[in-house]
Amino acid sequence: MTSSIRIALVYPELLGTYGDGGNALVLARRAAWRGLHAEVVEVTAGQPVPSGFDLYLYGGGEDDPQSLAAAGTRDSPGLRRAVEQGATVLAVCAGLQVLGSHFPGTDGRRVEGSGLVDLETVPGAPRAVGDLVVEPDATLGLPLLYGYENHTGRTLLGPGVRPLGRVRSGLGNGHEAQPDVDGAIAEVGAGRVIATYLHGPVLAQNPALADLLLASVVGTLPPLDPDPAAEAARALRAARARQTGVR
Ligand code: GLN
Repeated sequence: MTSSIRIALVYPELLGTYGDGGNALVLARRAAWRGLHAEVVEVTAGQPVPSGFDLYLYGGGEDDPQSLAAAGTRDSPGLRRAVEQGATVLAVCAGLQVLGSHFPGTDGRRVEGSGLVDLETVPGAPRAVGDLVVEPDATLGLPLLYGYENHTGRTLLGPGVRPLGRVRSGLGNGHEAQPDVDGAIAEVGAGRVIATYLHGPVLAQNPALADLLLASVVGTLPPLDPDPAAEAARALRAARARQTGVR
């Protein structure tokens, strides 16, 4: 069991619009509560994404900054190397799109992603804005995932990629060829990419997912008492989902 967890928060100035940088804080805090040290390093725009980290975090962003994040990621062989050697990536919304093959840029341009994950995002309408509830893939052993979405892109997963879960409320990936699914789980070498349209930040509202990421680095974790702030946020989203209708 390693005692220090190295977390890269990738391009927070470009992919920070929706507060997804909070995912790094949640990981560091939940590690600290267990006496584990987690080091969070911000990979700033213009830098290549280095290898050498255990966890990589990509957040959501607007179309132009997202295109810059894609360019930086395309030019970063270190990311693929790290994942192939066992690192885990959490990618949210624009982050998910950036790791795929292509996504829509401004003015209808088709922008090239990093190609780390076999998925493609195409333009869609209307914009998906609102609560998103996802029943995660059963193999993950996680409870329902809560958060919100705000995107126009519609994502199609390639044959080797499975969804993070089934959408119970909201849109998620939203591609007509693969209805009612959200996100992606892609095995890449010894590592893994977990991607989702859930903002929140997703790890603040879904601590079990945060622990899954930490456990991918350090192995089995001692359990923690429920976090009252996370439980309150989950209860609020669950109540709202019941009002709008859970599938
Ligand atoms: N710009 C992308 C879209 O609208 C991603 C938005 C986001 O990250 N929330 O699809």
